[in-house]
Amino acid sequence: MRNSLLQNDSLHPFSQNSCNKCGNCCRQGGPALHKKDLNLVREGKIPIENLITIRKGELTENPMAGGIQPAGVELVKIVGTGRQWDCRYYDGEKGCTIYENRPQACVLLKCWDTKDILDIVEKETLSRFDILAAADPLIPVIREHERICPVPDFLYIRANSYRLTEQLAKELEKLVGDDLRFRTRVIRDLNLQLSEELFYFGRPLFQLLQPLGATISESPSGITLRW
Ligand code: SF4
Ligand code: SF4
Repeated sequence: MRNSLLQNDSLHPFSQNSCNKCGNCCRQGGPALHKKDLNLVREGKIPIENLITIRKGELTENPMAGGIQPAGVELVKIVGTGRQWDCRYYDGEKGCTIYENRPQACVLLKCWDTKDILDIVEKETLSRFDILAAADPLIPVIREHERICPVPDFLYIRANSYRLTEQLAKELEKLVGDDLRFRTRVIRDLNLQLSEELFYFGRPLFQLLQPLGATISESPSGITLRW
């Protein structure tokens, strides 16, 4: 994620004062979109299939807070490629393949002087509800998902993952199951692709809990979450 670049002085020596297009920032994650980027999405220059939603409260890099913290606002970011962090639009030979239409964060990012990019962290950011038209039929579906599968308290879970109460462990197991059943139903009914699912509903809860120590298994009797 680009934020770790901001914290790595060795990547931006003091002598640097312009971009040499090395691509290091592009290989550390796609940027969050801001209000100024709305037309890029509306005009299809950055389609929603290349976006991923980080729901408010999900753990994500925050350079202002100095590490991985709960997102203070909902964020919509450009996805990475495969299992890598590389921005979806980064090409090892060509560099940024949407350079003329790159988002505001990319325009402002100067690895040798991070003031401008830090100034916009979690400010004037785009959410799913900014991007979708008010009458989009997916909006009530997103709200249903938020109701069925609200973002849990990841800070608490991270701090207490080795000593979760049985009640909280059960509640999280239920949330994970509800989330997966919801996604299965909606993807089937609306014929959504995985890339669309990641924009409309963010990453599945079980994926977010795995780095905190959860393992998931599925059997005919249902979902089991172990810590
Ligand atoms: S801004 Fe990005 S592409 Fe430009 S020199 Fe810094 S790390 Fe490399
Ligand atoms: S949109 Fe372009 S400039 Fe921005 S991170 Fe992706 S490849 Fe780099």
